[in-house]
Amino acid sequence: MEPVSAREEIENEQLKRLRRMLHTILPANEFYRTKFADAGFTQIESLEQFRNLPFTTKAELVEDQQNHPPFGSDLTFSQKHYIRIHQTSGTTGKPLYWLDTEESWNWWAECWKVIFQAAGVSSEDRVYFPFSFGPFIGFWAGWEGARKLGALAVSGGAQSTTQRLKAIVDYGATVLVCTPTYALHMAAEAKKAGIDLARDSAVRLTIHAGEPGASIPSTKKLIEESWGAKCYDHAGATEVGAFGFQCALQPGAVHVNESEFIAEVIDPNSGAPRQAGEQGELVISNLGRVGSPVIRYRTGDLVESSYQPCPCGRSDMLLRGGILGRADDMVIIRGVNVFPSAVENVLREFPEIEEFRVEIFEKSAMKEMKIIIEPSAHYSPIEGLDERVGGRVRERIRLRPMIEFVAPGSLPRFELKAKRFFKV
Ligand SMILES: [Zn+2]
Repeated sequence: MEPVSAREEIENEQLKRLRRMLHTILPANEFYRTKFADAGFTQIESLEQFRNLPFTTKAELVEDQQNHPPFGSDLTFSQKHYIRIHQTSGTTGKPLYWLDTEESWNWWAECWKVIFQAAGVSSEDRVYFPFSFGPFIGFWAGWEGARKLGALAVSGGAQSTTQRLKAIVDYGATVLVCTPTYALHMAAEAKKAGIDLARDSAVRLTIHAGEPGASIPSTKKLIEESWGAKCYDHAGATEVGAFGFQCALQPGAVHVNESEFIAEVIDPNSGAPRQAGEQGELVISNLGRVGSPVIRYRTGDLVESSYQPCPCGRSDMLLRGGILGRADDMVIIRGVNVFPSAVENVLREFPEIEEFRVEIFEKSAMKEMKIIIEPSAHYSPIEGLDERVGGRVRERIRLRPMIEFVAPGSLPRFELKAKRFFKV
């Protein structure tokens, strides 16, 4: 008999989990029962068959919640079985509400435990969460994951940035969990207050999500330098769960947790499968959220997959460069495909830039890019910065941007998902 490869083993296990889950979901979950019956599926025997199931889209879920208010019909059990409700960040339109059962909330926490363990966090660590702990799911699950691990979790809810910095130093926090943008904002504020985080704080690891930043090389470098820590990316979404993590070897990629999720990459226009090494949209199915699952969910995230075994020994799908951006964020300017993350990668190489905003607009039927720079108060004068930034953008992205400066402190700051790119 042929030995079973690591990939086959992963896929066999996924099929087993999927079938077990569908056995519970299909008779009881109105959303998926109707959806799959309409498409002619009643049971799944193979992964090939699974790959022919219809996709689930966010628009569909939003419509379902409008038609079945307030929580929609993607519910496998009666309401009394659900113990947590959260919502999406609502950056694009009305937020989605999402319910979890005791079992699925526990599953979320276990997925976060994987993220922490892969980065080398242990029960010895003190994990600080500068997060508002409001209805957005954000880092709530990370908070639960820290408990699973036996680490000491410190809440930074309802605190100013100054109070949070003091708490990080006073509690001797060793791990920081927040968006990349907020880690940089805290570092900038610390500098103004005369705190050298690399020297004065015990933070040795930072774990990020919500934006591509922690996988953008120059943003990652800036976080690592200003915190004196190693920076890790992870990927997740309210509707889906925490599906991606980085291992300690950090091969410039994010692992997909294929024990708990099935990942596919498709052509965002035709829906046809994309091969490893080709960019496409990530489609995810979760295997442990039986009470409110998503099956073949179009995340809108652009990725490039690889099945090369990682030096850490895992054979899961790797996402090279993490989440590259949102499918709808890419703009074509004079024939050049431009991702916000590529522009950020250039701008973060300049320590003189504290915050920025990019505007894409049309002039005489041509698209143009304007970069609005807020310099750091620590760097003055800034003569020649416009030419240096413009030159590097031209060299890397092959575009000539317009550059404008604004006074320190005038651009907005972000605790959660940053919004810096505007099509005006
Ligand atoms: Zn690895």
